[in-house]
Amino acid sequence: MRPLPRHIGIWVTSACNQDCVFCGNPYRDNPPADVFDPLPAIMPALREGMILDISGRGEVLLDPRFRDLVALCRRVGCRYSFSTNGIALTPEIHDLILSSPLAVLNVSVNSLNPAAHLALTRRAAMPLVLAHMDALCARPRGFLLTVSMVVTAINYAEMPAFVRWGARHRVDAVRLLPLAPSLPVPADLVPDPAAVAGVLWA
Ligand code: SF4
Repeated sequence: MRPLPRHIGIWVTSACNQDCVFCGNPYRDNPPADVFDPLPAIMPALREGMILDISGRGEVLLDPRFRDLVALCRRVGCRYSFSTNGIALTPEIHDLILSSPLAVLNVSVNSLNPAAHLALTRRAAMPLVLAHMDALCARPRGFLLTVSMVVTAINYAEMPAFVRWGARHRVDAVRLLPLAPSLPVPADLVPDPAAVAGVLWA
């Protein structure tokens, strides 16, 4: 018998509540109808000790099956991971995930500056995201928490402040991510590498 994998990834929704200028999700505004329900397909394969990576092109917390997937992991005894932009990371979701076998959560914050966050995500949601992070980080947790920033010409100067903010919130890692080279982003969004290095190593 072939050994089962220890790590299974599934993609759920393509819908999103942000409109990031660097997004590579072609279905964000018109998510295709769900033609594939991943639950029946993965249920027989999931085993205790596995990790289920719940991801997708869009915002995972918008998928109504998110709770079902968490319940499935709890029932089977496997852990799970997911990433969110933080808008829907409400105290109710905190209760759900803090009492579940979550292994890793990444929150794509991208900027702590309201104007820069708005310019990058085209949603005036930064105060809400930060409030959600403050509330989550004030509670004891048993999972790894990472925060990420896609580094652009708009926000690169914030990198040191972003790292300090992550440290104050006792996150387990701060991820400074480059723009995906395969995406057609506007030229003025690409940061000057020398300027980025200057900020990083100042
Ligand atoms: S949060 Fe992710 S999926 Fe949503 S618009 Fe931004 S990059 Fe795209």
